[in-house]
Formats: sequence, C-alpha cells, structure tokens
Amino acid sequence: MYYDETADAVLKALNTSEAGLSSEEAENRLEKYGKNELKEEEKTSVVKLFLSQFKSFLIVILVVAALVSAALGELIDAFVIMFTVFLAGVLGFVQEYRAEESIKLLKSLTSPEALVVRDKKEVKIPSALLVPGDILLLQTGDRIPADARLLEVLSLKIDESSLTGESAPVGKSTDVFPLETPEPDRKNIAYTGTAVAYGRGKAVITATGMNSAFGKLAGLLGEIERERTPLQEKLDQFGRWLGIATLVVVAFVAVLGVLQGFSPFEMFLWGVALAVAAIPEALPAVVTVGLALGVRRMVKRHALVRKLPSVETLGSTNIICTDKTGTLTQNKMTVEKVYVNRAVLNVTGRGYEPVGDFFRGDEPVSKDEPVSKDEPVSKDEPVSKDEPVSKDEPVSKDAHLHKLLVAGALCNDAGLIQEEEVWDITGDPTEGALVVAAAKAGIWKIALEEKHRRTGEVPFSSERKMMTTLNNSKDGLYAYSKGAPEVILASCTKIFLGEHEEQLTPEIRQEILDTLHEMANQTLRVMGFAYRKVAENILPEEAEKEMVFAGLMGMRDPPREEVKVAIATCADAGIRTVMITGDHKITAFAIARELGIFREGDLVLTGIELDALDDRKFEEIVEKISVYARVYPEHKLKVVEALKKKGYVVAMTGDGVNDAPALKAADMGIAMGITGTDVSKEASSMILTDDNFASIVSAVEEGRNILKNIKNFIAYGLTCHIGVVLIVLVGVLAWQILPVIAVQILWINLITDGLPPMALSLEAPDKGLMKQKPRKSTEGLVSKRMIIASLGLGSLIAIQSLGVLYWSLNNGVSLPKIQTLIFTLVVISLMFNAFNWRSDRNSIFSLGIFTNRSLIYAVLSTVLLQLAAIYVPIMQTAFRTVPLSFSDWAMIIPLASTTLIAMEITKYLEKRIHR
Ligand code: ATP
Repeated sequence: MYYDETADAVLKALNTSEAGLSSEEAENRLEKYGKNELKEEEKTSVVKLFLSQFKSFLIVILVVAALVSAALGELIDAFVIMFTVFLAGVLGFVQEYRAEESIKLLKSLTSPEALVVRDKKEVKIPSALLVPGDILLLQTGDRIPADARLLEVLSLKIDESSLTGESAPVGKSTDVFPLETPEPDRKNIAYTGTAVAYGRGKAVITATGMNSAFGKLAGLLGEIERERTPLQEKLDQFGRWLGIATLVVVAFVAVLGVLQGFSPFEMFLWGVALAVAAIPEALPAVVTVGLALGVRRMVKRHALVRKLPSVETLGSTNIICTDKTGTLTQNKMTVEKVYVNRAVLNVTGRGYEPVGDFFRGDEPVSKDEPVSKDEPVSKDEPVSKDEPVSKDEPVSKDAHLHKLLVAGALCNDAGLIQEEEVWDITGDPTEGALVVAAAKAGIWKIALEEKHRRTGEVPFSSERKMMTTLNNSKDGLYAYSKGAPEVILASCTKIFLGEHEEQLTPEIRQEILDTLHEMANQTLRVMGFAYRKVAENILPEEAEKEMVFAGLMGMRDPPREEVKVAIATCADAGIRTVMITGDHKITAFAIARELGIFREGDLVLTGIELDALDDRKFEEIVEKISVYARVYPEHKLKVVEALKKKGYVVAMTGDGVNDAPALKAADMGIAMGITGTDVSKEASSMILTDDNFASIVSAVEEGRNILKNIKNFIAYGLTCHIGVVLIVLVGVLAWQILPVIAVQILWINLITDGLPPMALSLEAPDKGLMKQKPRKSTEGLVSKRMIIASLGLGSLIAIQSLGVLYWSLNNGVSLPKIQTLIFTLVVISLMFNAFNWRSDRNSIFSLGIFTNRSLIYAVLSTVLLQLAAIYVPIMQTAFRTVPLSFSDWAMIIPLASTTLIAMEITKYLEKRIHR
C-alpha cells in the first residue's frame, strides 16, 4: 500500500531507484500501464458533429418545406431545398470542425509537464507519459500529476483542497504510517490533482491515470473551457429577436400574398425562404470560427488563450498590471557590483560565462592569480557537456569578498553548465548570477558544496523575501542567508569588517542602505547576504537571527528589447501599464522610468505603504499609481479589486502559487508559460509561452482584430439579409411579383453566408487598430455606425434590384429572366460588398486589394457557383434561371460595383470630416 512501507521497500516493490528509470524501461511501462490520463468522455465523433448541424430549427422548417413540396409533386423544389440543407450542413460542419481542431491544438499546447529523473538526469516530460516507478521532483506551485510516495521532503506542504475541501495546506513527511491510517492522514503520499503550496520534495510514482486513488487528474490545465462569449450570447439574443420579428412579417406578407392571388404553396415556400434569408442562423458558428482562428493566430504570437471569452476581454482591456522580472526584463542577471568591507567593487564579464574579475578601482581583487580574458577558466580544465562544473575552492585575496561569494553560492539552488562551449545556468536566474559571480573568483559551487554539505534549508518565498541554508563543513555548522537587503539587515546584529565580526552600528546600517539606494538607482537588483555559525541541533528557521552581514550584490537584468515599444503602443491604444514587483522601490522606479511606465505625476507605492492606506483612500489614488514595489502576492488582489471598482478592465500577470487569487479576480489573468507554476496557469485565462510583456500587447492587438473582423462580417451578413428582405417585400407588396423565387433566396443565403465571412475572419489587423481606444465592455454587438452602413448598403442593393424589376416590367422582359437578373445582381453586389467589410473605416486601396487572398478565392468561388446556377442546364431547371447575355452583364457589373463605390466614398468623406 506504499504508505505503510519504508521508502526503500517502496522503491524495491516498484523496481526502481532514486536514479530514476531508464527511457527504455519507462517506455515498456508506458505500454503496460497506459498513458497517465483519465479516460475522456466519448468525444463527439465526426459523424455526430455532422449530424448535429441538422438540429437547428430553421433546418427543420426547410426539411418540412421540402417534404411539403415533394408531397405536392414539386420534386425539383423538394430536391433543391434538400440539397441546400445538405450544403448548409457541410458548411456548418467544416466550420465547426476547424474550430474544434483549433481548440484541440490549444489543448495539446497547454497540457501539463512534470520534472522527473530519467536515465539519471532531470528532465521535463509531459505528465501523460509518467509511469509507476518514475522519480518525481516537486516544487512550489506544481500540480501533483500522479499518486506518489514521498522519498524526500523539504518544508513540503501540499494543498489538498481539491480532494478534501480543506484550504490549509498539509505538511508532508516521509515517515512510515500504520496500515489503518485513513487516506487523508497518509502524510507520505502525494495525491493526484493536489498542489505543492510550499517547499520541495522528491517522490516515486506509485499509480498513474485511472489507477490513481482519486483519478482526479490535473486535466484542469489541459482543458480549454468552451464557455460562450458575451458576444455569442448577444448574437443569440439578437438572432432570436430577429427570428420572431421575421416570422411575424413573413406570416403577414404571406397571408397578404394569398389574398392577392398567389397560391398558398408558393407563399409557404417563399415564406420559408425569406425566413431563412432574414435569420442569420449561420452567424454564431461563423463567430466561433472567427474566435477559434484568431486564437490560433495568437498561439503564433506566444499567447495561449484558455477561454474563448478572454479574446473579447482582451479587446476591451484598458490596464495591464505586469510583473517586472522576466516579463519586462530579460531575467538574465549578471552581478555588476558588490559591497563588502565598506567598499563597492565593480565586476566585469558578461552573461553567464564565468570570465571576469572584481575590481577595487583599477585593482583586481578576487583571485591570487587573476584569469585573463584570453585564458578562460574553462580551458585549463575542460568540462564535459551537460555536466555541472566542478573546481577546487581557491583562497581569495580578499576574505570579505570570499565570504560574500561563498554565502551566495551555498544559499543557492541554481547550477552552472557548459554545453557545446556555451555557458548556461540551471534554475532561477537570480541565483544563477550568484553562481557565476562566485565562479569568476574561482569559487565553483559544486566543489564548494562537497565541502559544505547542506543539512537544512528554509526555501525562498515571495512573502519572506529571503532564503537560508544550513551547511556543514570542517569548521562546523553554518547558516547562510540571502534575500532583500532590508530583510537580511533585519536579521543581522553584526557585520564582517576588517576580517572580524563587528557590531552593526546604526551608522554602518545607514551606509549599507545608502549603498543599496545608489545601486538601485542604477537599475540594479540588489540582494543582501549574511551568515552565522550555529549549534549542531538548530532548526533552519531559528538560524535567521543575530546573523553577521556579509555584503550586498547588485545585478543587472536588462529590459527586454521589445518592451519599450510595446509600452508605447499600449499608451497609444489607450491602455495603461502598471508595474507590480517584489523588487526594491528604487530599482523598480528606475526601470519603470526607463521603460516609460512611470510618467511625470505618477505615484510609486510599496506594499507596506499600501497596507497603511484604507480601502477608500487607496481607491482615490489607485489611478495615479504606476509602480508597486516590494509587494506581497496578496497586494495584487487588492490592486485588481480597486481598479475593477474604478471601472477598469484589468489584465494581471502572475507566476507563483499565491498569485492565483489575483489572476482569478482579474478580468484577464495572464500566467507565465516558462517560469509560471501549474497553479498560476490553471487560474489564468491566458498563458504567455515566452513570458514576455510584448506578447500581451500582441495578444491585445489580435483580440482587437478578432473583434473587428467579427463585427465586420456581422455587418456584411446584415447587409445581405437586409437587401434580400427589402427586395422581396417591396416586390410582393408593390407589384405582386416575386423578384427572386424561394430556391434562389436559399441559394443566395447559402453562398453569401458561406465562404466570404470565413475569409473576412482572416483579415489582418489594420493600421489604426492600436491607435483606437479600447472597446467598452458594455458596447453593443455592432456599432450604430455599422448598422446605418449596413442599412444603407442593403437599401442600395434593394433599390437597384427593384429599379431593374421596374424597368424590366415596363420593357416586357419575361419573369424568369427578370428573376435571373435580380438573382445575379444581388449575388454580385454582395461580393463587392464583401470587400467593403474588410474594414469599416479604411479604404480597400489603403489595405491593398489583394492582401486578403482568402477573400479573393472566396469571391471567385462564389461567382463561379453563381455562373453555374445560370449556365449549367440542370441548375437552370433547379433554379428556374435563364442564361444571361453579355449586355445583361454589362448592366449587372457596374450596378453591383456601386456598393463598393458608395462605401469607399463614405469612408473617404468620414476621414476628411474627422481630420
Ligand atoms: P517580480 O515580482 O517583478 O517578478 P521579483 O522577482 O523581484 O520581482 P520576488 O520574486 O517576489 O519578486 O522577489 C522579491 C525579492 O526577494 C527580490 O527583490 C530579492 O531581493 C529577493 N529574492 C528574489 N529571489 C530570491 C532568492 N532566490 N533567494 C533569496 N532572495 C530572493
């Protein structure tokens, strides 16, 4: 049962060891036990998806209409109607299938990973590939991917609320528990679906997939929620409203028609066709496709949207609260300055290459034999690929510097590796920089750790802002701490000065703070270091007092290159950027100013200052604050809530476990794909695959573009529907003539709702998109402007068609010819109209006529279909069309093109007036 056996016995029973399984063995086991997944509910099969297209009310009406036609002997009509139903089904199916595929793609991209030991190496693998016997490494924020027996725990606490409902995290141990222990008390077991709230651990996987005790897999993360978006809701409402209105009008006109002498059957068919033409039944599907395709484009720009409604939220976001480290900056740290023994030293060298030196003025101080740049340290003793570097511990010329660097290297979980001549770090870059700095002085972490074995630790957390380790060496047991300088100083009573431990006087404290401010002003991230000799039996937490201050290190973390532009773009787009960081106020301020986040008149607030404000006071000034420094995770929630109260649509980034509440509370929670914990990712609506602020801005642009495209193809659809309804209504009422017959209306509806809207959803962002203010979240489906434009264009199409009708009637043209003319004029006008709606403001000439290739193909295909409808004999019988002559086309094309010309003129005039 694993919890009642020793760790060794469990390893043995599972036929594994702490060195992990070999890849081969893992593969065998995967075959035997299957993937670490829950059996998903039966997926909607392709056939089901296809059949589901025929469930809509309108389709049912059409089928009834076809049956009635057939019963009355109108076989051709019956066939045409059934054929349109079938085509509509295929079209709907293709669209939904594409949407499904996009969502599946997202699902595969967001599937969780786990850190395991395989072939004696730590590797990240998809959680689905875990097998019993795998050695699992756990750290804060990880979701437990399978049931596991703990082998090692370091202050490990697990949040089991997903199983027990109990919100307080449970401390874990590696003890053996008696057989009768109830499930929740088996503290040496980590259960699938729970999450690491604090600390670290190592465990061996005992059961995967459906075999795990609770079978509640961390599927949460992989799940793309398919909530309906507000836009889709509005569209549904709109459709319902339009449906009822149409049915009333149609019923009225049909009765009128019968009274005027049309046959009841003809009026029935016509009514059905008109209802189909007027109700935008395809729109919700097209909108879903628009959203799904947009989401796919976002993936390419490093943003994974987890919930479709978020796409809309992105379009209305007007404030982005972002972390600093790694999001605005590169998270590639290099120590540039150190403060020891009351003096500041400069550090040379770049990146993670351990080449450089420490200078006091012009004099190098770190090593007895300084290593020159031409003679990199890596050369005198080549290091094998992938292997951490190991060197002997040298004696530094400067005992103070040595102490500081040793503290930095020991109180540290990062590593330094060389792969194909390139130096890199493993673990947290802040810690990596310390390992590199120590190596520059010839202190190699691996060798150092062999002589200073770690026996205990208090891990770093954003709340504590410090970390401590206990290390045993031949000189006895020492505690080493590092963290935010104020926090470290608070735990120190002494300082290492002139090779002695001296009392830390208020003057020296002040000097340290002054130095810290000076470094921070130069945008350096500053950390403090301390040590203390401790008694053998001390608990790590107890060591963090009466420590000896060893010094400061200031590291540079350059801003990401693209961020400054992205922040300026945000400002243009009416979006404010706010920095929220755990870093020091002065460092944060200096970077915010450099990046353009902080502007004249803005405020900078620290977590402590924020705590001192009551809610009302905070809400009064919240709009002025552009930088929050030295915050704790709970402050993020406070900021989100205050901003939301002020009516902002808030995007907030986060990566830690404790960021989850703020991510959930924000309108748009954004998690980091690389450094983010599973827990933060699950709480988010979007994940940045490159952790980059600029990707948020790209996502906002895509979000706005998707909304713009959706609005445009809704407006396009409206134009079509308004045009056709007006033509038929006026034709019947004024001349007692059906300008287009039922099957033609169905055809128009089918081909105009088919390809062009899909192509419009692929339109690229236009130039002005990020110069407009964010869309208000309360804004309607389509703006008044666009409704007026659709009404205008629809009326224009109707007037022309009715003009043709009038002229033809007066010139004795036969009815089938008149209907063919109008039928074709409407379709061709709508194709010109499709180009109008590539943008509601910009001329197609400024967009480039051929820039949306898909639209060109869509229009060409539609025109070909229309030609078939009037020239292919069998289609002529079906659609009651007659072939059109050259002169007919000479009339149709210029008339149809007026739709485009009219809109172009309107756009031009509007721009001029605007200017
Ligand atoms: P951001 O919130 O923008 O990501 P941050 O990385 O500075 O900024 P935290 O990770 O909360 O935020 O760190 C807060 C402070 O804790 C840092 O400014 C630093 O002084 C200290 N710190 C960071 N990492 C460590 C660590 N690994 N060990 C000890 N102290 C650390």
